[in-house]
Amino acid sequence: MISFYPGPSRVHDEIPKYVKDAFTAGIMSINHRSDDFVSMSEKTIKLLKQKLNIPRNYTVFFTSSATECWEIIAQSIVTDKSYHLYNGSFGQKWFDYTKRIHPFAEPLPFDVNEKLDPKKLIFDLKEGLICVTQNETSNGTQVSNAIIRAIKKNNPSYLLAIDATSSMAGIDLDFKSADIWLASVQKCFGLPAGLGLMVCSPQAIERVKTINEKNHYNSLMFMTEMMDKWQTPFTPNVLGIYLLMRVLENMDAIKATHDLIEERYNKWIIFLKSRKNIRHFVNEEAVQSYTVIPVTADEQTVATIKKSAKKEGILLGEGYGNYKPVTFRIANFPALKEKEIKTLMKFLEKY
Ligand SMILES: *Cc1c(COP(=O)(O)O)cnc(C)c1O
Repeated sequence: MISFYPGPSRVHDEIPKYVKDAFTAGIMSINHRSDDFVSMSEKTIKLLKQKLNIPRNYTVFFTSSATECWEIIAQSIVTDKSYHLYNGSFGQKWFDYTKRIHPFAEPLPFDVNEKLDPKKLIFDLKEGLICVTQNETSNGTQVSNAIIRAIKKNNPSYLLAIDATSSMAGIDLDFKSADIWLASVQKCFGLPAGLGLMVCSPQAIERVKTINEKNHYNSLMFMTEMMDKWQTPFTPNVLGIYLLMRVLENMDAIKATHDLIEERYNKWIIFLKSRKNIRHFVNEEAVQSYTVIPVTADEQTVATIKKSAKKEGILLGEGYGNYKPVTFRIANFPALKEKEIKTLMKFLEKY
């Protein structure tokens, strides 16, 4: 089965070998306070910064999932109000979880085909948090680096938190333009699920220390103290970190990956434009995601495609929410192979 599901998604071919290596090297039972763990953790974070172009003075944290990162941010960074810009299910969930902890969380929904206008996003409090989903996996839209940069520039005293779960390691994100970036590894990293990543600017760490929230095992205060020693407050997914390290060692620089992903996205756009019965779900090209391609058609066509794809050994991503019956999604993640994409295009040619 070739998985085009946008997460959990196709893993890199080398994963079984790395798992075996981990077992042989005793990684699966190493103590998370040992020197061996510390040097592996340090190496993984250095590689991550190097390969993804993350500023050196940013702090990287290991968590269990992107969802956990949402909660950590709500617990340790929000004191009163946060603004949530979203146009899809993941952004809305982030808002929902935050609101349960801080009732003044404010939703700022926008349209799937709407390009955010930073001039209209100037907030009036002295400080606070702005949350943006860079790549909305549920509907295949994205917010550009330029818009993220402008939002931060217009609101310098705010922390800007970015959910990049389905784009980190797939596209070239401008990490220095925001304060908190979160992701999990089962999307563009091509790894099995169970590990989340959070990347924080010095301004974010400063805010964490000012707020000094210490009510949870994963309060960012504790996490920061432990990460000074390349460790985590809890026993982390050591195998996941090891696999991440191995994948990073072989990873191209993010600029090269970005170019490949954008080129493949362009091919999908051209391909979909010449189909009769299916088309890209998002009309506004300026907001189309590079890493998740949502496709729409009438209900019957979508049902037929999903069913016959399975028979041909192709797994497509389900549509989301209300659009489930009339959409499906195609991951455009780096672990996918050229010939697998060709196979899917050939299958979809008749529609
Ligand atoms: C997949 C996804 C999440 C949730 O990730 P988990 O690892 O399941 O917590 C959050 N945000 C976005 C944009 C996603 O694509």
